[in-house]
Order: sequence, then C-alpha cells, then structure tokens
Amino acid sequence: MTVFDELVGQEMAAHELQVASADASSLLTGGAGPSMTHAWLFVGPPGSGRSIAARVFAQALQCPDGGCGTCAQCRDVRAGTHPDVSIVEPAGVHYSVADVRELVAQSSSSPIRGRWRVIVLEDADRLESQQMDWKPANVLLKAIEEPAPHMVWVLCAPSLQDVIATVRSRCRVLSLRTPSIAEVTDVLVNKYGADPDLAVTAARVSQGHIGRARRFITDPEVRERHREVMELPTSLASLTDCLEAAARFDSTAEDSGKDQVRERHAQERDDVRASYGVGSRGIEARGAAKALGDLEKMHKKRARRARSDAADLALLELLAYYRDVLMLQWGADVGLINDEYADQLQHEASTSTPEVTMRRIEAVLETRATLSGNAVPRLVLESLFATLRDPVAVR
Ligand SMILES: [Zn+2]
Repeated sequence: MTVFDELVGQEMAAHELQVASADASSLLTGGAGPSMTHAWLFVGPPGSGRSIAARVFAQALQCPDGGCGTCAQCRDVRAGTHPDVSIVEPAGVHYSVADVRELVAQSSSSPIRGRWRVIVLEDADRLESQQMDWKPANVLLKAIEEPAPHMVWVLCAPSLQDVIATVRSRCRVLSLRTPSIAEVTDVLVNKYGADPDLAVTAARVSQGHIGRARRFITDPEVRERHREVMELPTSLASLTDCLEAAARFDSTAEDSGKDQVRERHAQERDDVRASYGVGSRGIEARGAAKALGDLEKMHKKRARRARSDAADLALLELLAYYRDVLMLQWGADVGLINDEYADQLQHEASTSTPEVTMRRIEAVLETRATLSGNAVPRLVLESLFATLRDPVAVR
C-alpha cells in the first residue's frame, strides 16, 4: 500500500506523480531529477479527486519512502498538521491580493521539518475576477516562474480554460478524469465498508464524485436533502407551492452550508484561542479579540460560499432528475442516475413532452449561471420553481 492507491481510476496521473516525486527525492541528494517540476496545475472535473491528488503528491514529496502512508511525514500531511504543507482555498468567492501575497511570502522560506515546502491552491480558477483591477493571479506569476529551491506549487482547477493563461503557461499540467460509477462503488464497498446497494446508489447520485458519495453514505442528512430535491418537481401544484419550495430550498442550502463548515470553524477558533493562551489562564490575551474578529469575518465569507455551493449542488441534482426524465422520453437505453425514483420519473416522462423537459433543464441551467458565485437570492429560485411548474406559461 502507498498513498497513490488513493487515486481511484487515475493510473496515468498516479504514475506521473510517482515518477516526479522519486525524481524530487534524487534532486535533494544532488541527482538530476528531470521529471520533477516546481509548479503544477492539476485539472479535472469536480469529483475527479484534484484535492486528494494534491495531498497525495505532498505526502510523496515529504515521505522518505516516496509516500508510504504510515510514517510521521505522511500522517501529518494527511492530518493537515504538517508545517511545510499548506492547502489553501479562497475565503470568499475569489482569492484576494492580500491572500496571495501572504502565500508568496511563505513560499520563499525554507521547509522546517519536511523536504519540500508545498503550497496547494484549491480553486485556482478563482485567482482572477472581472471586477478586480489588480488581479491576485499577477501576484503569483513571478513566484511560480522562479520558485525558491525547495518550493512546490500545486494549483487545482476544474479545467485548463478556467485558469488565466499567464498562470497556465507557467505550470506543468496534470489531467485527472472522473472515475466511473463502478470504480466509485468499488472504493465505497472495499475501502469504506459500505453496504453494496447503498454504495451503487451513492456512486450514481454523486455522479463519480467520491467525496460526495462518501457523505451520501455516512450522513443521513445528505440522503434526506437528496430526497427533498427529488420530491420537488412533483410538489409544485400551485404558485404558493413554488414560493414555499423556494424558501425551503434556500434554507436547506443555508443549513447544508453551515454543516459543511461547522467543525472546521470550531477547530480554527480553538486554534486561535490556544495560540493566544485564551482559556488556559482565564484572561483575554492581548490581540486575541482582534484575531478572533478577523477569523469571524473570514468564516462569514466561507459560510456564504458553502451555502452557494450547497445550492448549486442541489440544482445539479435537480438537473440529473430532468436528465433522467428526458432519457425516458427519448427511450434512450442508458441507466437512470436516480434509479430508485424510477416510477416517479416514468410518470413524469409520460405526462410531459421532451420539449417541456428541455425547457425545465434550460431553466435550471440559467438559474445556476445566475446564482454562480453569489448568495442565494430567493427571487431567482421563486422564478425557477414557477418555470418548472409551468414551463409553457412562463415563456
Ligand atoms: Zn511516508
């Protein structure tokens, strides 16, 4: 067993990273290390395991055995406590220039305990924004072009097109693919001991996204929320129903977003308190209040983003529902994503037409675009559900 076993369905990428980390190791002892690169861009659709690949690579770089998975270096990277490995994400919708400046400053210092300093930037597609005059990406350019000797940058993004060209051209690209339903099912059963039937459902519903599939299995709330989304289309009998559905959808997204960040935020508050000695001596240490205040602001931003991500995920589930309806209406011989709702989907398919289903799909897609990156405005959802209820009348 090595850490690379975690890269499900990514044999090519795993091999490339293995060779690179072996060469990285030889570089440290004066070897040539031709296959090692200091700036990487990992691209792959959501669920392809970009974050896992980045963490595995960091483990392999720090581990004296190239990623054994059991030594102290491997364990600390996995636990997120390794002092030389930072895995960062934008606190708000985008990275700020200040965030990136801080990372660049960090990148110039030598590793403390490990062999390399590794900075993983999740969501590198959020390094620029139309509204910003001075883009965070610009701050990064020189740092990734001429990194400090023991520095490795790993940027992660859904696709190459999502990353600004000047950043893209300075990185070595590693492509990841979405694992198949069978591969995800296999991992859920064999690695996490999931019930085989539930594993198949989880793999299908999460469409190859291992992280989501795992949450579907371990968290009854996630299954409950999925059920709510599946019941939405048949609950829109009147306009009042649509308004209520929008309110429910919105508050579910809020709850789900809160669930996503709760543990992490509590941990971060504890860390700040501990670092200022608050609690142990029963006095408010100087600076602690400000640090906690700053943290609180960052948490608010992150919670807002978690909420909009949760709303988007629910919209994707709704999209999968209408995709199933359309497949039935077309008589296409493909598996249903929501197979356990086959009866309901059949009924929906036989009481509408492909044209109507297409309009519903368009409406969901438009809503996703409108809501992308923003908090969830109730009005947009109300209009969506009114359209889903009667796509012909609204047009
Ligand atoms: Zn190890």
